[in-house]
Amino acid sequence: MQKSANFKNALSQPVFKTISQASSNLQLECYVIGGFVRDYILRRGEAKDIDIVAVGSGIDLAQEVSRLLPGKPRVSIFKNYGTAMLKSGAVEIEFVGARKESYREDSRNPSVENGTLEDDQNRRDFTINALAISLQEDNFGTLLDPFNGIQDLENKIIRTPLDPDVTYSDDPLRMLRAIRFATQLNFMIERESLDAITRNANRIQIISEERIVVEINKILLTEVPSKGFALLHKTGLLPFIFPELVALEGIEEIEGQRHKDNFWHTLEVVDNISGTTDDLWLRWAALLHDIGKAPTKRFDKKIGWTFHGHEFVGSKMVYKIFKRLKLPLNEKMKFVQKMVLMSSRPIVLATEVTDSAVRRLIFDAGENVEDLMTLCEADITTKNPKKFKKYQNNFKLVRDKIVEVEERDHIRNFQPPVSGEEIMKTFGLQPSREIGIIKDAIKEAILEGEIPNEYEAAKKFMFAKGAELNLTPIE
Ligand code: ATP
Ligand code: MG
Repeated sequence: MQKSANFKNALSQPVFKTISQASSNLQLECYVIGGFVRDYILRRGEAKDIDIVAVGSGIDLAQEVSRLLPGKPRVSIFKNYGTAMLKSGAVEIEFVGARKESYREDSRNPSVENGTLEDDQNRRDFTINALAISLQEDNFGTLLDPFNGIQDLENKIIRTPLDPDVTYSDDPLRMLRAIRFATQLNFMIERESLDAITRNANRIQIISEERIVVEINKILLTEVPSKGFALLHKTGLLPFIFPELVALEGIEEIEGQRHKDNFWHTLEVVDNISGTTDDLWLRWAALLHDIGKAPTKRFDKKIGWTFHGHEFVGSKMVYKIFKRLKLPLNEKMKFVQKMVLMSSRPIVLATEVTDSAVRRLIFDAGENVEDLMTLCEADITTKNPKKFKKYQNNFKLVRDKIVEVEERDHIRNFQPPVSGEEIMKTFGLQPSREIGIIKDAIKEAILEGEIPNEYEAAKKFMFAKGAELNLTPIE
C-alpha cells in the first residue's frame, strides 16, 4: 500500500490539472475527497465519480472548470445543496463548497454553514471516506488525513471521524453505509461503531425507503451478501427494514422433529447464487424464495413440519415488500414473483425426470427456465456431501433434459398449433366454452406427450375431441 504523503499518481487524469488551474484562477483551495481517494488507495479500478470540495463556492469552481475544459461541458447546478456537477468524458465530477454541519435532535436536515476543509472532513461518515488530496499548485498531490484513514484502510476498519453515537444519530443512513462498506470491501466495523449502531438502530426509521433500498441493493450485489445481512441482523437494524426476513429465523422442535433455520438458509442461498450470477433480480429472488415459510409453517403429527403453499404466499409477499421498499413494481417484480412461485418445481422434478414434467416446467417458466434452475441449484445447502452431489447431479439431468425436450418440442414460446379461430370455423361455432375446452385439451395432450407439437397431429386430435363433445364438422 502507498504510504508516501504524495499522491500525485492518483491525479494522472488530465482533468485534475484543469481543476487545479481553475482553483488558482479563483484563488481558492480545493481537494479531491472521499470515494475516489479511498478506491485509488484500495486499487478498486477506475472511478466513475469524483468528488471535489472547494473552500469557497463549489458552483463557481465547477463553472470555471467547465470554461477551461475542451467542449465546455454543461454544468448542472443544485442550488439548494450548493453543489454542481459536470461530466468529463465518462466521469461525473461533483463540486461542493466545504461546509460545517450541525444537527438537531428533531430534524433530519442539518443546518449548514461554510467551513474549512477540516470542518468538511469532520462531517464525513468514515475515516476512510474523509481522505483528501490537495489540488493546489503549491502542494498538488498532498494527502490530508486527519483521522488516520490510511491506517484504517490498511487494517480494513470502518470507523467514524467523530463520536460514533453522534455520527449515526445525526444521519442514521450512515449505519447502513457502514454495513454496506464492510460487506463491499470486506472490512470490519470497529467495536465502538458496532455498539453505537446497535444503540441507534431504531433511528433508521426516519430514513426514506428509497435511500434504504439503495444500500440493500449494494449489499446484495457484493460477493458475499450474507455478511451484510448478518450485520443488519446482529445490530438489530433488520427488524426495522425487513421484518419478513427476521420472521424466518429460528428452529422449532416438536416431538423431536425440527425444521431448518430458514433465515440462515436463505442467506446461504443468496451467497450461493452470487457465485453464479450478478443479476440483481435473481439475487432478490434468492433472498425472497422462502419468504412465505413463516406464515405457512404448521406442525402435523404424522408428517412433521410443513410449509404448504409457501411459494404462493411468498409470491404475494413479494409485491408487498417491493411496494414498501419502493422497488419497481414492473416486470422485474413479476420476474421475482415468478421465481418465488416456481422455486420448488424443479426440486420435485429432480427425483424423477420425465419428459412430460420437463415440458410442463418449460411451458410454465418460459424464457426464465434457466434462471429458475440457477435458483434451485443455489438452494442446495445440505451439509451432507453425498446428498449434495446427488441433488446437483439430478439438476444436471434436468438441465440436459430441458435442452433435449426443447430441441424436439419447442415448448418455450408455446403457441397452440391449432387456433381458436380454426376450431370455430371447423365446427361452425360462435365463441363458446367448447372452444376453450378443445384448445386446453390440445395443449394438455402436447405437454403430456400424447401428440407431438405439430399442426397435423393437433388437427386430428381436434376432430377426436370435437366428436367427444358431440360436435360435427360443418363440411
Ligand atoms: P460509492 O460511490 O462507492 O458508493 P462513496 O464513498 O463515493 O462510495 P458517495 O455516496 O458517492 O460514496 O459519497 C461520496 C462521499 O461523500 C463519501 O466518500 C463520503 O465522504 C461522503 N458521504 C456520502 N454520504 C454521506 C453521509 N450520509 N454522511 C457523511 N458523509 C457522506
Ligand atoms: Mg461515490
